[in-house]
Amino acid sequence: MIASVLPTYSRAPLTFVKGEGSWLIEADGRRFLDLGAGIAVNALGHAHPALVEVLSTQAETLWHVSNLYNIPQQQALADQLVEHSFADTVFFTNSGTESCELAVKMARKYWFEKGQPEKVEILTFEGSFHGRSSAGIAAAGSEKMTKGFGPILGGFTSLPWGDLDAVTAAIGPQTAAIMVEPVQGEGGIRPMADVDLKALRQIADENDLLLILDEVQCGVGRTGKLFAHEWAGITPDIMMVAKGIGGGFPLGAVLAREEAASGMTAGTHGSTYGGNPLACAVGGKVIEIVSDPEFLDAVRAKSGLLRQKLEGLIADNPEVFEEVRGTGLMLGLKCKATNMDVVNAGYAHEVITVPAADNVIRLLPPLTITEAEIDAAITLLDAAAKSLS
Ligand SMILES: *Cc1c(COP(=O)(O)O)cnc(C)c1O
Repeated sequence: MIASVLPTYSRAPLTFVKGEGSWLIEADGRRFLDLGAGIAVNALGHAHPALVEVLSTQAETLWHVSNLYNIPQQQALADQLVEHSFADTVFFTNSGTESCELAVKMARKYWFEKGQPEKVEILTFEGSFHGRSSAGIAAAGSEKMTKGFGPILGGFTSLPWGDLDAVTAAIGPQTAAIMVEPVQGEGGIRPMADVDLKALRQIADENDLLLILDEVQCGVGRTGKLFAHEWAGITPDIMMVAKGIGGGFPLGAVLAREEAASGMTAGTHGSTYGGNPLACAVGGKVIEIVSDPEFLDAVRAKSGLLRQKLEGLIADNPEVFEEVRGTGLMLGLKCKATNMDVVNAGYAHEVITVPAADNVIRLLPPLTITEAEIDAAITLLDAAAKSLS
């Protein structure tokens, strides 16, 4: 008999019943150090007092109103995002894949309204992850995600990761946009080099294409800047955000320049829940905290410390780990052992990591992780690694 929850996930035999900062408490009482943060979602850790306060206050006031009416919390969060980014305008969603849907629609509608309806094709990269909707799986393009689900949404071309010559060669009169994660998450923590991101911006400009960045995983302070593209000194035309922005409350957003968003007039898109008062109240507090330059300085400092200690961990466990890669608190350990064995050994030693493609384990701790917790992380990961050799 089928499980009452549709069995699409292979779950670890763990049941967390409470969270405190960087720690998750299992039903049996064990305390796990959370280096996964719900896959880069719990940006401020678990039960952050400021988020609990803002959510409880909003819950006592008003949960939901339709987008038929003004939503002050949504307006305030949009203003914050516009102030702190390249964007002129923001649409709120509930997830990363919904942000992908709108990014694709927005890019195509832009060219349609410009009188170039043939420009529908979006260039993407192998190893990408853009969510599980029909547009998301088409954008990722891999057989693993698309097989068996009927006709794949057309108009996407997947190119080798970081191959700029392939990008140039693929551009034609039908090309509308380039879509890329500045740091691939699911793909195995693969950062695109700053020079390559700059080059993509230039290629987009020279060929009259929109540049869409998927910062669902790497955005909202994860890399030590509010948004990852800031490291390369470029700006996109359209950007997808989700995960960290809600700190654990479902929230996503599409940020855009005015020109790129110009096709999206009244009636062209919508969402029942998107930009809900509860979500936006929490998102506003997350952005207020994470956009503080001192908070981002601290993320960079902790990143440096964690990286350096991970180098030591690799040196001490050369048969388990190969290299550390990534940026900020979005780090990957490329494994020599099977990555899932390392993740499971971590569970046995009460430390949570997240597997990714390319035999990598991801370390995506809360951005609020302390130096003492970084020390604890290394001790626990070392014990986990030693148990494998
Ligand atoms: C997680 C993720 C998505 C999809 O987000 P959902 O909220 O699961 O729909 C899209 N893009 C990237 C880069 C992601 O990491």
